[in-house]
Amino acid sequence: MNPLDRIVMLYADFETRVQKSISNLFGSNCCTCGGVCCNIDYCRETRESLFLAKLREAYQPALSYSDETGWLSETGCVLTAGRPPVCYEYLCGEILSAQPTRTHRFTINVLSQLISHVGKRAYRGKHIVEICEAGELQRIKLSTLERRLGESKAAFQAIETFYANTFFSATDWDKLTKIVLAPKEVNLREG
Ligand code: SF4
Ligand code: SF4
Repeated sequence: MNPLDRIVMLYADFETRVQKSISNLFGSNCCTCGGVCCNIDYCRETRESLFLAKLREAYQPALSYSDETGWLSETGCVLTAGRPPVCYEYLCGEILSAQPTRTHRFTINVLSQLISHVGKRAYRGKHIVEICEAGELQRIKLSTLERRLGESKAAFQAIETFYANTFFSATDWDKLTKIVLAPKEVNLREG
């Protein structure tokens, strides 16, 4: 397996874990919500992105792309891996207001940014999902991509520990603030 394909597999595996965690946390809100926040423009973007195409090859969706509904089926998005990072970033008011503390709100904010963090500045300031030319994809610095993936994985582990223990150690808190800077008023041990 070539080095890029190896990272694609690691990223896809990580994305599925983040997706599962988000679905466990917010699934009940989203199931009963009238306003589905998917946007076909985001689905379309996946067709131009070479990196997202590689993720779809690795984890092939059960249904093919529809010009009318994109990747959205009656049961939700059919992409197991290869969703645009923006699809993880959106946190609606209902979800935010359901969080019991500011620390919980900050934590879900970090969770929503983990996928986006991995591909930032992959080639000449471009996010990896914005790369549409094969030559550029071959020139990305894989060591940077792998380092950022490691940072997101470490923060994800810290978040899972927080949900089990309801507090962060100082070391785990540092892992979160590598992804998103914490506002001053957020208390490390508030959870
Ligand atoms: S994220 Fe919010 S708006 Fe979107 S489907 Fe879930 S509950 Fe509804
Ligand atoms: S979550 Fe899936 S269906 Fe929804 S906008 Fe993103 S790619 Fe499209």
